[in-house]
Amino acid sequence: MQFKTDLMPALIEAIDKTIQENAEQVTTLDQILGDGDHVINLQRGLNALKKNHHDYPQQIWSEAWQKTGMTLLSTMGGASGSLFGTFFISMSKSSKNDATLNQKTFSEAYIQAVEAVKKRGKSKAGEKTMLDVLIPVSELLQKNINLPDDLSTLLDEIATTATNGMESTREMLATKGRASYLQEKSIGHIDAGAKTNQLIICAITKELKKHL
Ligand SMILES: [Mg+2]
Repeated sequence: MQFKTDLMPALIEAIDKTIQENAEQVTTLDQILGDGDHVINLQRGLNALKKNHHDYPQQIWSEAWQKTGMTLLSTMGGASGSLFGTFFISMSKSSKNDATLNQKTFSEAYIQAVEAVKKRGKSKAGEKTMLDVLIPVSELLQKNINLPDDLSTLLDEIATTATNGMESTREMLATKGRASYLQEKSIGHIDAGAKTNQLIICAITKELKKHL
């Protein structure tokens, strides 16, 4: 199975829908642990991405990721804007001149992008952040990188892994960002960034399954 950039508008619409549906829940989480602006920032980024819809089908993946990263970087703001921007710009650098993506080429780019986010955020697994969703998915892709494409199974495993990663942040002590000021009071609540990353990943896997 080979994915082309003409899928991007459908993926962005699916992400936008799930963020809208869960906006209230995520904002409540973010008001407990952060400053409550994560969903608004993300929605500003998504609204800007929707304006790129007509460009995507003409682009190769490196161009599509670059444009996505730069758009998020310049519109989202906040810590998450720079992390989301870093993720997609790194995806762009790894995608070279690929007109299509398959399991292996996507996985290679994703793994590199997660490393770039770790470096940019000076963070690792277990610190109650979006990385607690991104890193387990990266490890899953690494495990499957040289196996024959079995995207239907892999997409289901990605969704489960992202959901487990999001849930795992509930019992973690926050050591990064504003949530770290709360110390032990951060325990018992899911991290808002982990939640939106899980929602995004699950929206993507669900949408991709329609195109297999
Ligand atoms: Mg914030």
